[in-house]
Amino acid sequence: MSKKIVVIGELQQGELRKVSYETIAAAKQVDANAEIIALVMGDGDLQKSANEMIQYGADRAITVAHANLSNYTSEGYGQVIMEIMQDVNPSAIIMGHTSIGKDVTPKIASRLELGLISDAVAIEKEDDQVVFTRPIYSGKAFEKKVIKDDGLLFATIRPNNISALQCDVSRTGDITVKDMDVKDLRTIVKEVIRKKTEGVDLSEAKIVIAGGRGVKSAEGFKVLYELAELLGGAVGASRGACDADYCDYSLQIGQTGKVVTPDLYIAVGISGAIQHMAGMSNSKVIVAINSDAEANIFNMADYGIVGDLFEVLPLLIKEMKVEGALIS
Ligand code: FAD
Repeated sequence: MSKKIVVIGELQQGELRKVSYETIAAAKQVDANAEIIALVMGDGDLQKSANEMIQYGADRAITVAHANLSNYTSEGYGQVIMEIMQDVNPSAIIMGHTSIGKDVTPKIASRLELGLISDAVAIEKEDDQVVFTRPIYSGKAFEKKVIKDDGLLFATIRPNNISALQCDVSRTGDITVKDMDVKDLRTIVKEVIRKKTEGVDLSEAKIVIAGGRGVKSAEGFKVLYELAELLGGAVGASRGACDADYCDYSLQIGQTGKVVTPDLYIAVGISGAIQHMAGMSNSKVIVAINSDAEANIFNMADYGIVGDLFEVLPLLIKEMKVEGALIS
C-alpha cells in the first residue's frame, strides 16, 4: 500500500495561497509514489479550492468547513489537522512556512511529540533518507536536517523555493467533505481589520522593489509603486523606512519582518544592514540602487547602480515603458 502525504491548502481571503501548490510539489519530492491528500479548511464552499489542489497534483482532497474556521486560530486549525492525521495516518505532512504555518505547526508537533523541520527551501533524497535544507543564522548558512528513524515527516516549506507542478485542469480526484465539529476554542476572532495592501502579495512575489530610509518620505514611495506595477511586483521596505513612517510595518523585510525570496529584488535607498539582509539574502538576483558607493548592500548585490534613486528610478521606468523592453 502506498504511503500517504497530507498537504495543507491555505486560504487567504477565500483564495488558495500559491505556496499551497508548492506543498504538493514538495510532497512529490519526499515520495514520488505516495498518495497526496490535500486538506482545505475554512468556512463555506471549499470545493473550488479542493479541485485546484487536485489540478496542481494532489490525488484527492478533504475539505472541512465550519464557522469556527472562517478566521484562523491555532486551536481550530490544530483540531482539524490532528483529526485528519488520525483518520489518514500519513507518513508526512507539509505546509507552507507562512504566518499560519509558523504558528500552528509547532503546536501540533509539541502536542503529538513529533519532530518538525521548518522553513525548508529544498528537499533531496540521500540513501533513501529525505533530507531537508533550511537557512540558518539569518540566511548566512544552510543546514541539512532529517527526521530520525521512521518518524512522521513534518515540515513547512518557504514560499517561492520549491516550484509548483504544472496545473492540469483535466485532473480529477475524490473530494471528501468531512463533517467535523470545531469546538471549545478559547480564542475567538471578533473582527479582522485588514491593512490596505496594494497589488501582489509580498511574501510570494517574484519581483520585490524595496525602499529604505533613502526614499525620504511616503510620497517618495510612489515611484517604487509605479515601478512595481510596471513589473508586476510587490513593494517592500526596510525597517528604517517603516520606523520613519514612510510605509506600513506590514511591508518590512528582514529579521523582524518578512522573509522574501523573489527572482528579482531591487533595493532602493537601503544601506544593507545585517538585519535587513536576513530577510532578502536568498533572492535570486539582487539589484541595489544607492547614492553611497560604499553602502554594504553592494556587497550582496549582483548588480549595483550608484546614484540618486530619484534620478535612477524615473529613468528605469521610462526605459521599461518603451514597447518591448519588458520581460514577460
Ligand atoms: P539607512 O541605514 O539609513 O540607509 C539609507 C540608505 O539610503 C543609505 O545607504 C543611503 O546612502 C541611501 N540613500 C540616501 N539617499 C539616497 C538617494 N537619494 N538615492 C539613493 N540612495 C540614497 N531592519 C530591517 O530592514 N529589517 C528588519 O527586520 C530589522 N530588524 C531589526 C532587528 C533588530 C533587533 C535591530 C537592532 C535592528 C533591526 N533592523 C531591521 C534595523 C537595521 O539595523 C537598520 O537600521 C535598517 O535596516 C536601516 O534601514 P535603511 O537601510 O533603510 O536605512
